[in-house]
Amino acid sequence: MKIESNYTSPKTLLNKGTGYLSGYSHSLNPYTGCTYGCSYCYVRQMPVSLFRKEEWGTWVDVKQEAAAILQKELHKAKAKGPVSIFMSSSTDPYQPVEHKEEVTRSLLEVMVQDPPDFLFVQTRSPLVRRDIDLLLRLEDKVRVSITVETDREDIRQKFTPSAPSIAARLKTLQLLREAGIPIQATIAPVLPSSPTFPATLRALVDRVCVDDYFMGDGSGGKRTRRLGIYSLYEELQLEDWYDPAAYRLVYEGLQQVFSEEELFLSQKGFEP
Ligand code: SF4
Repeated sequence: MKIESNYTSPKTLLNKGTGYLSGYSHSLNPYTGCTYGCSYCYVRQMPVSLFRKEEWGTWVDVKQEAAAILQKELHKAKAKGPVSIFMSSSTDPYQPVEHKEEVTRSLLEVMVQDPPDFLFVQTRSPLVRRDIDLLLRLEDKVRVSITVETDREDIRQKFTPSAPSIAARLKTLQLLREAGIPIQATIAPVLPSSPTFPATLRALVDRVCVDDYFMGDGSGGKRTRRLGIYSLYEELQLEDWYDPAAYRLVYEGLQQVFSEEELFLSQKGFEP
């Protein structure tokens, strides 16, 4: 697939944390657009994507001079009160373009020099391993959450064919943990998985968050319904997994091997 990448010069980087992210003072998106282009990604229905001709997943805007902008904004924000940052809400900060552009890395460098009170990094990319040196310097002020919606690679390929493999994400969790970085496995959205998924995660993490289209898309599942994802479930004859109660299929298995304190549902798992 041809990817179009552009350079933009935004005036600001930090956005106010609202709605689902109201526990945060700010959200931070190093890029606009995301070339993982997951089938269920509802960002494609947001203004950032709706006003583009190109299809979601085929373009990315690289924010130039991002570090310098963040440095100023962070300084100002910290003068006003506690700063907690969610990175990222409408892009993956470690999508493939980050290999070359290093925008996310440059933002972490700023945050190491002038740390926010808390930083939550949300990604599905093994590239986050490159920045272990910086993440370590944020000590307990950071949590890295790796999206692992399923343990089934065939399901991953159907729903998110451009995203990293499940094995690579599990390996990333293992390496981050070994490095001593606070981590979370995030099953969001819940996709059809195998009965051994909870045990696989038990061996890797002490914190799991479960979220689905119905709790987590901000509209009780309506946004996701508009994406037409249900047809994928029909094609796979896995309709049972597209249901407001389907998260229980995995959650109850997790409850067998994780304690209540280690398990989080929906928004709770993303809070600072
Ligand atoms: S990685 Fe996240 S932001 Fe990117 S397409 Fe997938 S769901 Fe959307």
